[in-house]
Amino acid sequence: MLRHMESQLLFLGTSGDLSLTAERLRKSGGIIIKSGGQQIHIDPGPGALQESAFQGANPKDTTIIVATHNHIAHSADIPAMIAASTQQGTRQQLSIITSQSVLEHIPRPYILWCQNMFPAVLGKKITVKNIEIHPQQVYHNDDGAVGFKIFTPHSIIGYTGDTKYAKDVAEQYKGTDILIINVKYSRNEKSATNLTMEDAEKMIKIARPTLAILTHFGEKVHSENPLYEAREIQKNTNVQTIVATDGLSIAPESYSAKLKTKTLNLYS
Ligand SMILES: [Zn+2]
Repeated sequence: MLRHMESQLLFLGTSGDLSLTAERLRKSGGIIIKSGGQQIHIDPGPGALQESAFQGANPKDTTIIVATHNHIAHSADIPAMIAASTQQGTRQQLSIITSQSVLEHIPRPYILWCQNMFPAVLGKKITVKNIEIHPQQVYHNDDGAVGFKIFTPHSIIGYTGDTKYAKDVAEQYKGTDILIINVKYSRNEKSATNLTMEDAEKMIKIARPTLAILTHFGEKVHSENPLYEAREIQKNTNVQTIVATDGLSIAPESYSAKLKTKTLNLYS
């Protein structure tokens, strides 16, 4: 169990294509942020329930579920996570923040088990205790899909969700400490719905987070090994860029600009 002030960013899976999940080449299940006593589960796709338990994030401790859009890879396990977190509705501790398209597809009893339900609408900030969540613009083949900026007590974490590239999408993530980017396609692929490696590089050049993390890989990216691309992107952008692996766990506060300033002030 983490102490109250400690935080963790944990990638349950990195699959951006269910065929990779089905072949057990990459897991899916989403991303977990533990911070300020809360456990946030982002995009709980297939395997979220088992993987969170398996990777040391007890589903019972989930306090916030955040889902970007109504595609299976991002939302399949929402009912299972609600059931586990609320213990079949006997514990009122869970907030769910997601697009209208997802909310419409969650069976009603599960929705009633949640303490709070917030439709994710652009321009509308959502506060749950010490966490603030800002829905962000995406361009994807699900109306109402969003990305998120998550303000924890120690850091600002951006998550693009699924989107095609646009300059205004990239600009939203200026000022993030960590930017998690879903990169489904390789540099020479084209997509009207998702980001390519070339798009990710453009995005990082504009947003300039302290740390960029690439994840949600399609088959071609997987087979080419995204590590080489991450190195290239880091060289071209001068922004620290890493590739998420299944089970990757990092301490987000190590990349917090706010914390660095504080530390510097101690010595000035
Ligand atoms: Zn999608």
